Amino acid sequence: MQIQAGSGPLPREGDMDAEALRRYGHLFVDWIADYMRDIQSYPVLAQVKPGDIRQALPSIPPAHGEEMEHILADVERVIMPGITHWNSGNFMAYFGVTSSGPCILADMLTGAFNVSRMLWKTSPAATELEQVTLDWLRQMLGLPGPLFGMIHHNSAIANALAAAREMVPGLHVRQKGLAGRKEMPRLRFYASEEAHSSVEKAAILLGLGQESLRKIETDADYCMNVEALDQAIREDLRSGWWPFAVIATVGTTSTTSVDPVEQIADMCERYGLWLHVDAAYAGAAAIMPEMRWILRGCERADSLAINPHKWLFTSFSCSVFYTRRPQALRSAFSLTPDYLQNNEGHSGQALNLMDYDASLPHGFPALKLWMTLRYFGQDGLVNNIAAHCRLARQFSRWVEFSPTFELLVPTRFSVVCFRTHPAGMHNEEQLDRLNERVLNRVNAGGRTFLSSSRLKGRYTLRLAIGNLRTTEAEICVAWEELQKALRLEMGSIPSSWSGLRQGRLHLLSFSGEPTTALSGSGSIGSC
Ligand SMILES: *Cc1c(COP(=O)(O)O)cnc(C)c1O
Repeated sequence: MQIQAGSGPLPREGDMDAEALRRYGHLFVDWIADYMRDIQSYPVLAQVKPGDIRQALPSIPPAHGEEMEHILADVERVIMPGITHWNSGNFMAYFGVTSSGPCILADMLTGAFNVSRMLWKTSPAATELEQVTLDWLRQMLGLPGPLFGMIHHNSAIANALAAAREMVPGLHVRQKGLAGRKEMPRLRFYASEEAHSSVEKAAILLGLGQESLRKIETDADYCMNVEALDQAIREDLRSGWWPFAVIATVGTTSTTSVDPVEQIADMCERYGLWLHVDAAYAGAAAIMPEMRWILRGCERADSLAINPHKWLFTSFSCSVFYTRRPQALRSAFSLTPDYLQNNEGHSGQALNLMDYDASLPHGFPALKLWMTLRYFGQDGLVNNIAAHCRLARQFSRWVEFSPTFELLVPTRFSVVCFRTHPAGMHNEEQLDRLNERVLNRVNAGGRTFLSSSRLKGRYTLRLAIGNLRTTEAEICVAWEELQKALRLEMGSIPSSWSGLRQGRLHLLSFSGEPTTALSGSGSIGSC
């Protein structure tokens, strides 16, 4: 498109001036405060169809500068309908997360500073605050020091594996790569079949290949079976694989199961393997004294990841990576081009974080974690995390005492795995389909948002509490929506189990109570 000379206001020169920034800043902060106040009046899951947002936007770029009021109005008109409100207390899918008030404010400052902490001197405060804040967090979690810590956008499993691989003597993958080397053994690492998909993606990214990940079976509680791990390692050693690492998960994504880290650490010591502990979600729970045990054995891990952006009330892109062996990361990644030469790093006086990551570490993520930890304090964090666990137990009790729902795993933290299972319905495929339809119906309603997974093949509903705005009222809404959806689904089920429908429908009639049959019994069904 041609820009016509003289057809509009003069092109902007330079940045928004300080007074305009102040004026718009107030406008935006007011907008944000209203949004946070009213967030639960929006449908939590965006109710748009694929392409809706795109079509509502101009396909041609702005030729002239526009006013911020105008742009903000379009946020309301065009963008908001396409926002799924992760920061809402009704968001209980995947993992409930929160960008808390102090974090939102810190994010504003972070934008204003816009630093990169690739070198110490490119922002000493960003590097040093990160070290101090991560040491605070280490203490809050009861982990013995010293631990080197660094913040990444995501749980950096690839970094752990790259460091582990670099520590295998004689491989020199950093210099020589993997391809075309006849002498290269086939590398193998291990994680349970419940480990996060990012583990397998790291194998893809590092050129190890998906086959380099051997998934170890889990026991009845979805925890890694350590005997199976031992057997797998022996078998691999016999058949020419080179085992080099194990990833243990503390709080798996589907069920929040906790792998037996101590026994896995024994195994890693016996075979000389790098132990990485993925505590992305559940690690935060160790801040509660009674939950310290979940990180038992982690003091022996080579590396450990925990994501404050999951359950420590900071916005996304705040995943903490700890290691006892920072030199291994340096061996894998340190590389200083001419244009980033500096004296401080060489003299050993200053930490250059770019030496510990594959990409240049931009941004100032410690600022929001520091502000969040300070705003809440350890007692505030404990208080909120404990409240989430209590809510999850309360919801679990409703499920357990309901004749039409069942708990599929004991609730350990703040995630509940359950399904509807009307009496008399035994066909697993039918149950899968019913649960899927119930979930779709619940989520289409927009009052609450839950997700699903599969446990040993069975379709499972997941309610994940982690947002600071989730209270009893929000889990009540979820419970009501589930009952309502089930009632509607049962009503639409064809003849094959109409006998069942007649026998059960009276229990499913929606009365605002979990089940009419149990409404009198104490805390059960109190909503
Ligand atoms: C969520 C999750 C991850 C990945 O989370 P990121 O936010 O992408 O870092 C990794 N492991 C587990 C166990 C998780 O639950």
